[in-house]
Amino acid sequence: MNFLENIISLNNVTFEYLSEDESVSVINDFSLDVKKGEFLAILGHNGSGKSTLAKLFNGLNKPKSGTVTVDGMDTADEKNDIEIKKRVGMIFQNPDNQIVATVVEEDVAFGLENLSVEPSVMRKRVESALKSVDMWDYRGYSPYKLSGGQKQRVAIAGVLAMEPVCIVLDEPTAMLDPKGRKDVINTVLDLCKNKGITIILITHFMEEATLADRVLVIDKGKEVLNGTPEEVFSKVETLKKIGLDVPQATDVIYEINKCGYNLKSTITVDGCVEELAKFLEDV
Ligand code: ADP
Repeated sequence: MNFLENIISLNNVTFEYLSEDESVSVINDFSLDVKKGEFLAILGHNGSGKSTLAKLFNGLNKPKSGTVTVDGMDTADEKNDIEIKKRVGMIFQNPDNQIVATVVEEDVAFGLENLSVEPSVMRKRVESALKSVDMWDYRGYSPYKLSGGQKQRVAIAGVLAMEPVCIVLDEPTAMLDPKGRKDVINTVLDLCKNKGITIILITHFMEEATLADRVLVIDKGKEVLNGTPEEVFSKVETLKKIGLDVPQATDVIYEINKCGYNLKSTITVDGCVEELAKFLEDV
């Protein structure tokens, strides 16, 4: 697919935290364009700057130098804050921290109440958002009674109700069981492919990153790799050197090739099975 228009652009961005008298540089001269409608996965080991970067995407963090623009608006300019936060929604790791009301539909409506959206419009948006994440049947439930995956989908509905152009998800599946993880990732994929919403997914699950259009790998606040999942995961040595894994299917082929074979690198189980079948025919 061709993605033409930029929704988020970072130009030579530097960001640092101030801790006790000294400043610690976390993002270093970083440039990136995120295209409207794309699904970008971001990988990096703990402390590499992923969360800091995520918060630069919607103005929660302001760059020390360089510029971040969202839909052409500079995040450094405070008068753009509300418009930027409407366009770029954020989902965090812990679903419990994102619950703000005692009934699911009130929880989803919360952000809209702050924007004084008319009640009839609000009802329509809440219904549409809950249907999009397949949680409409739970609208009268207490969010506290839901599973982790369901809570995350309600949180996504809360962001969707604001009609964002982009959703940034910072390790949204880290605390979920396999079923919850799958449901959240399928929801996110559906929003991207069928509703055209730009998705930026920070994850440490390599299999999730294989589903993206593009994978960005960072280390010490700098880009290390940036390309399609196939391109990025073919660089097994580079990834291992910075403490990252590769998808299991990629690893199997990599280990066999270490013994002197030349099987084609793959990111999918099907691709791996195909290569192994060919390999076994030949030996
Ligand atoms: P990641 O999401 O990749 O784990 P972070 O962006 O959370 O990385 O952190 C990058 C670096 O910035 C780490 O060294 C971390 O300790 C530091 N850091 C993060 N948040 C703060 C903060 N609020 N104050 C000071 N240092 C911070």
